[in-house]
Amino acid sequence: MFGLQICLRRLRQRLTNGPWRYDSWMHLYRGASWSAGATHKSRDSSDERAWPNACDVLVVGGGAVGSSVAYHLKERAREDLSVIVVEQDSTYKTASTVLSLGNIREQFSVAENIQLSMYSRRFLRQVPELLSVEGSDPVDVQFTPQGYLFVTHEEGLKQMQENFKLQTSLGAKVEWLWSRQLQQRFPWLRLGKVVAGIIGDYGNEGFFDPWALLMGLRRKAEWLGARYLDGRVTDLIHRQQATPATGHTPPRILTTAQITVRSGEKRDIQFSTLVVAAGAWSGALGRMAGLGCGTGFLATPIPVEPRKRNIFCVHAPHGPWKDCPIFNDYTGLYFRPDRSGQLYIIGMSPSEDKEPPADDLQVDYQFFDTDMWPILAERVPAFENLKVRSAWAGFYDYNTLDQNLIVGFHPVYKNMCLATGFSGHGIQQSPAVGRAVMEYILDGKSHSINLERFGFDRILANQPIKEMMVM
Ligand SMILES: Cc1cc2nc3c(=O)[nH]c(=O)nc-3n(C[C@H](O)[C@H](O)[C@H](O)COP(=O)(O)OP(=O)(O)OC[C@H]3O[C@@H](n4cnc5c(N)ncnc54)[C@H](O)[C@@H]3O)c2cc1C
Repeated sequence: MFGLQICLRRLRQRLTNGPWRYDSWMHLYRGASWSAGATHKSRDSSDERAWPNACDVLVVGGGAVGSSVAYHLKERAREDLSVIVVEQDSTYKTASTVLSLGNIREQFSVAENIQLSMYSRRFLRQVPELLSVEGSDPVDVQFTPQGYLFVTHEEGLKQMQENFKLQTSLGAKVEWLWSRQLQQRFPWLRLGKVVAGIIGDYGNEGFFDPWALLMGLRRKAEWLGARYLDGRVTDLIHRQQATPATGHTPPRILTTAQITVRSGEKRDIQFSTLVVAAGAWSGALGRMAGLGCGTGFLATPIPVEPRKRNIFCVHAPHGPWKDCPIFNDYTGLYFRPDRSGQLYIIGMSPSEDKEPPADDLQVDYQFFDTDMWPILAERVPAFENLKVRSAWAGFYDYNTLDQNLIVGFHPVYKNMCLATGFSGHGIQQSPAVGRAVMEYILDGKSHSINLERFGFDRILANQPIKEMMVM
């Protein structure tokens, strides 16, 4: 592995063009070189090349986050870094990415979340150039500008005012509306206890096609030389370091992933860095490394699990409302028009005590009838006559501590970089988080946006960063 260390060092020198920093995990690498097979000249991952036995970076999960990581790494490091993405289901039928709504907003209560979305929005606008591949049609993520409207009752007013202050201080284009202004602008709303709202700029917020983004990222990452493998990571092998790390848990290095392929055969890949981008299944991946099963720091799991969320697509005969924003009620209910403007897409997270089991993706129509429809009909009388046309369910990659991303290197597993736990706002953060992980791996820290607070240390310290605007 020593050869690899030198290779990464040279790469960093080239990339930073000057003196570069060593971070703690770099010093841990000593051993055999595995440069063989480290560069990928072919641009086709579905080829007959031999199963690789080693790589520099192994990304577990080829959804939007994993693919964004692969794209950003290869875009910057090119042939100097070998990147393999392992994806257990290349149809992506249960991946959160393809089941998400693809909404993007600047309205958050935590500064980093605003900054992440701002970068992602710029990225989405530039997708045709950034993700272009010679000889192929440009990617069209169908970005549809549509402002978000968040409304609050009296109890949430102070928080909303703080959010507004933060958003404007960071350059978000948002407008404050008191109830009278809300009523004038959106006469189809029945305000009830609503006292105020914030509306976002129609150019800066909106929605896009997550599948197109995923395919665009994946295609470009592969074109740049990243290799995608069909298979499921079923075990992670580590070795322990002699020197003590933070606290009393000695540091560890993950060395090898065991991958089970469709035939049931098990194959190993060694790596220098592992990226956890397994979405809702990240907690399960962590358990393969003993996280949540050991003592000391190892007693703390990656606190990410699947949580089922239902989305309903309805026709409301007395709509559509041309000016309908992406509406977010203080009860947690949200809706927006679809691209045709004829149908409305509606969702709501259940309260903690009503969380359904996450063992299947069956739609819970009863939840719509008992919990969502009464709020809908109350807030928008024209929804009284709606008809549900279709519905689907997907898994949130739910961070049980604070419903926010976890990003950066693990304090014990020094070469395990996390990119998970987005809990309902991950598709919009995927471009920015891919860049952040690239910076962690190549530069030792995320410098474009400082994401230090979002590392695993807050999980160990049990210090949530509460995002007040999660849906
Ligand atoms: C109904 C719904 C609506 C949403 N709406 C929005 C929205 O409007 N805006 C927004 O920003 N976000 C939204 N989200 C959240 C967003 O979809 C996710 O946060 C985001 O897609 C996470 O991307 P990911 O790549 O981490 O996860 P995924 O897309 O789930 O990808 C993870 C991949 O890892 C693979 N994997 C897991 N374990 C292994 C293993 N052991 N070996 C190999 N592969 C493995 C899986 O097969 C999967 O493909 C929504 C989510 C849902 C469910």
